[in-house]
Amino acid sequence: MDKANLEKVVTQVLDEMRVRPLPVGVSSRHLHLCQADYERLFPNEPLSVKKNLLQPGQFAATQSVTLTGPKGSLERVRLLGPLRSKSQVEISRSDARLLGIDVPLRLSGDIAGTPGIRLSSPYGEVMLAQGVIVAKRHIHMSPLDALVMGVVHGQAVNVAVQSAGRSLVFSDVMIRVSEAMQLEFHIDTDEANAAGADQPGCVARLVRP
Ligand SMILES: [Zn+2]
Repeated sequence: MDKANLEKVVTQVLDEMRVRPLPVGVSSRHLHLCQADYERLFPNEPLSVKKNLLQPGQFAATQSVTLTGPKGSLERVRLLGPLRSKSQVEISRSDARLLGIDVPLRLSGDIAGTPGIRLSSPYGEVMLAQGVIVAKRHIHMSPLDALVMGVVHGQAVNVAVQSAGRSLVFSDVMIRVSEAMQLEFHIDTDEANAAGADQPGCVARLVRP
């Protein structure tokens, strides 16, 4: 293949990679626990895998907890593994209303000044002082994906979701670049419902600026 042809093929491949659909990951309410909180809730039970998630090493655990707020409670909220340095609870705005707490929109890990909540299992209880967030929508990707797609870590982009009768463009979608992360657009259940993204055949794409 001569140089001109090679360049043409490379450009074509890159163009296709740039517009390829983003796998959509809908996050149901869930929590992450630190070692100490896990041991108080499940003192005699090793953390075990129920289902692996798309992101390498991440899994839904067999363990779940009940969240209790001033107005209500939510049972069987799934624990995601592995354990982290800080406990964090991720819920939707609808969940926050049901529990009766005012929860800010945050990126995962940014929990300073967030409200707490009571966690309980059949074996124990933990009163979290802080750590409840509504997760800000984001796209995980590897440094190579970021290079190909022409975006950088921390950038806010638009994502168009095409679905049956509820197509929607999401703004304020944060790019999160990390080694070994798979390309995945993360939204919560409120966002998925609003855009019909929980239905088969929905397609999400980065909107070119
Ligand atoms: Zn995520």
